Amino acid sequence: MAELPITMTVARMHEVGGALRIEEVPVPKPGSSDVLVRVRSCGIVPNLGNILANWTTWFPEMPLPPLPAVFGLDPAGEIAATGDLVHNLKPGDRVYVNPLRTCGSCRHCRRGDPRSCRHAAFQGYFGFSNHALQTFGDYDTGGLGEYMVAPASAIVTLPDTMSFDHAARLGYMGTAYSALKKARVGPTDTILVNGISGTLGIGCVVFGLAMGVKKILGTARNHALLQEFKALAPHRIEVHSIDDGPIDAWARGFTDDGEGVDAFIDCNGPGARHESFLQGMRALRRGGRAVDIGALMGDVPLDVHFMMDNNQSLIGSQWFTTEEGQEMADMVGSGVADFSCLETQAAPLAQVNAAISGIAERHGGFSNFVIHP
Ligand SMILES: [Zn+2]
Repeated sequence: MAELPITMTVARMHEVGGALRIEEVPVPKPGSSDVLVRVRSCGIVPNLGNILANWTTWFPEMPLPPLPAVFGLDPAGEIAATGDLVHNLKPGDRVYVNPLRTCGSCRHCRRGDPRSCRHAAFQGYFGFSNHALQTFGDYDTGGLGEYMVAPASAIVTLPDTMSFDHAARLGYMGTAYSALKKARVGPTDTILVNGISGTLGIGCVVFGLAMGVKKILGTARNHALLQEFKALAPHRIEVHSIDDGPIDAWARGFTDDGEGVDAFIDCNGPGARHESFLQGMRALRRGGRAVDIGALMGDVPLDVHFMMDNNQSLIGSQWFTTEEGQEMADMVGSGVADFSCLETQAAPLAQVNAAISGIAERHGGFSNFVIHP
């Protein structure tokens, strides 16, 4: 094994909203069940700017890692070293790190439901309650640096054909993939995706197609961008601008006798209007499933009596499991899932601040912003 350096270059935030500083810090040491990863690409998403500047104001109940901290949600790279209890991963393995950290020993973690762990936190991003501070104490470094430590159980191994830059997009892709799995979509299904042209929506397209969905109905606002999404699979994707009329009437027109869609995935972000969500719910068939991953905010008036009568369900879904991460990587490896529609814009670590502020200028969900530490 190659000798490891003593120190590494990272981008650290010292005060909320302050610029990330390029600094030298010690290379972290992996614990017995951990791996040390040499990060080659780390995804940055539009929400990162909010996490750094606004999170403590918007969501004071969801803490950031204690400052100064190395952020960075979606790291991919090579394993550089392994803890002494790690027997099936080795230096040189190409990997993605699922950043969802949990305690591993509570009732929920032990019964295979880590997403219910009250210590849940995104390594290098934010936690879901003050219990996450424990987790940040155990895993304090995100992907915007040369090295990071993660539990072996969080590792997704990458096929040779999957680039680190594409792997650094597995986070938002995985959020969409997990939603499609919860909606149990398959080859007989017609699904509706609100916000199809964004960072989550493109994941619904890539994995909806990969999972054999018969028809994907996508809504957004920008006509030109919508046509680019239809062009990804012209016979299986239909698109509609919310400026051109109600979503439910349009979507039902693509289903047998207008019965409604089998599943509805809402990818619209926190500021979206409630009416688009409600129209999506009204597009569901009897027995249909809706999944929210966009994090629409506020109290949405739902007709739960109608939902009960019609056996419909609405699921909130956040992130994805490492098992689902491995499924996605293997689908890319076998060629079933195609990430070639992503347009990667890479920047070196030294330009991380400019990259984060430049992310507003993007080509919808096609844009894939990454940092190469
Ligand atoms: Zn736990």
